[in-house]
Amino acid sequence: MSLLLDKYGEILNVASLIQKNGWAEKNAGNFSIKLDFEDDRVSDVSIPLSTSFPMLSNSVFLVTGRGKRMRDIAKNPIENTLLIRISSKGDSYSIITDGDVVPTSELPTHLAIHNMIAERGSDERAVVHSHVTELIALTHIKEYCNQKKLNNLLLQMHPETIMFIPKGVGFVPFMMPGSTEIANATIETLKNHQIALWEKHGVFSIADNINNCYDLIDIIAKSAKIYFLCASAGTLPQGLSEKQLQELGEIEF
Ligand SMILES: [Zn+2]
Repeated sequence: MSLLLDKYGEILNVASLIQKNGWAEKNAGNFSIKLDFEDDRVSDVSIPLSTSFPMLSNSVFLVTGRGKRMRDIAKNPIENTLLIRISSKGDSYSIITDGDVVPTSELPTHLAIHNMIAERGSDERAVVHSHVTELIALTHIKEYCNQKKLNNLLLQMHPETIMFIPKGVGFVPFMMPGSTEIANATIETLKNHQIALWEKHGVFSIADNINNCYDLIDIIAKSAKIYFLCASAGTLPQGLSEKQLQELGEIEF
């Protein structure tokens, strides 16, 4: 139970930060964490999935509840999240925590991302989705609904971006949230990036834990904010030069 309490502590911390940043209107945003330890609880009620995720067979996930507010998750992560176990075939799940909380409507996208991660065998276990105001605003500018132009801008605005997110972000054109279509597009994007930016909606990030997911989002949010601060002061930012970016990219940690 102490390992699970650690996860609730991480959720509380990140939900609180997201709330303070104003990225969580009403019940916006959701998380999922693939547990790396056993949980013995079971349920005989099986809920079918519209897509099978065979690589997630018997995996247990801590996910945010549908309709739950980030500000409530930040106060009481246990009552506003739930644990689900994927069936052995990967085609259904059961809720193994008590209560009437059901998973976020973005569960198909979260599971599709975890399935892709399991297929490639990398060590990300957490997925965070958030409505980051500055990043959504960028995708309302037609010029930046272009992955190359979007990344050129984000990388030029702040040294941390190229240092910690050298591949930049992947851009996903507008599609209906919760659909298989957007789940598939997001997976393709996250095969090559740690962050997927959904046009006019928000952002997904993947990392080994949700604190690191938050850091990735925070870094590119700052880049976007710097751009808008300069623009609102009546001048377009100069941006880091190619030489400066190259030198920053060569820093070893
Ligand atoms: Zn959303």
